[in-house]
Amino acid sequence: MKKDTSTQESKKFGRGANKCSRCGRKQGLVRKYGIYLCRQCFREIAHEMGFTKYS
Ligand SMILES: [Zn+2]
Repeated sequence: MKKDTSTQESKKFGRGANKCSRCGRKQGLVRKYGIYLCRQCFREIAHEMGFTKYS
């Protein structure tokens, strides 16, 4: 019985290795669009990038 699923995807980065690439915070990380930012930074950057719908 093989139960290999796509759960290994995050293994690449290791556990807890993901943090905001802007301020280094680990809480509320947003991984949308391949960016790694906390929600606060994402809001600022999203605004700069034109994602005005995210509020
Ligand atoms: Zn941040």
